[in-house]
Amino acid sequence: MRTRLVVGNWKMNLTVEPAVALARLVLEHVRKQGGSTVHTVMCPPFTALTSVRAVLDGSPIALGAQNCHPARSGAHTGEVSVAMLADLRCQYVIVGHSERRRDQYETDELVAEKAVAALTGSITPIVCVGETQQEHAEGRSAEVVTRQVDALIRHAGADMVRRSVIAYEPVWAIGTGLAATPEHAQQTHATIRQTLHGSGAADVPVLYGGSVTVDNAASLFACPDVDGALVGGASLVAASFCAIIDACERQQR
Ligand code: PEP
Repeated sequence: MRTRLVVGNWKMNLTVEPAVALARLVLEHVRKQGGSTVHTVMCPPFTALTSVRAVLDGSPIALGAQNCHPARSGAHTGEVSVAMLADLRCQYVIVGHSERRRDQYETDELVAEKAVAALTGSITPIVCVGETQQEHAEGRSAEVVTRQVDALIRHAGADMVRRSVIAYEPVWAIGTGLAATPEHAQQTHATIRQTLHGSGAADVPVLYGGSVTVDNAASLFACPDVDGALVGGASLVAASFCAIIDACERQQR
């Protein structure tokens, strides 16, 4: 059975105090539910990792970061290494988010290097893939995600990919309120799974991300190849993030 995850990507939001308050509320909810089989992960900004770590210590919620540098250490001003994240007991790190591919010009090769660095440091990478609005309009979603997953397998190696998490995040759906339909999500996830299958990595969890809300979560989680969600905006409000976790829990297969 594939692992199911709900991951909150807080992006560049929340200073320490509200970050700790949000983590406490989500943890309280998860504890109350008890015995969850869905893995919950919260990815605060770097500046709040230590404080959120203190809240989550010994809890069923995992801590994740939003980026890492592929090098072990060195002259990389402003960057954060995997060893630094491991030191804070981060268990996950998001790599290749489309906002970084766009703003920091991250390539498939760099994203794969980050994934390898994370795994080498015992942190699970959540590797984001997804097509742009134009590629979607041209009906090229399957082609684009296949190319991105193939590039990951080529650069990182199938062994590494087998230990990763993939997040399908159509760029046009992120932060727009226009989530993919369950049909489109399922079709694209099936394409990703087929590509992974060719490398013996068919059991890698594939999450959907892009305007996931309380209202659409259940229908997305009902898709057989959707193993959870990477949630941006809705993860900043405890009530909506908790409702999304619950929706995933209800869809346990
Ligand atoms: C994201 O940033 O990964 C994301 C999916 O954002 P949102 O849920 O706000 O669309």
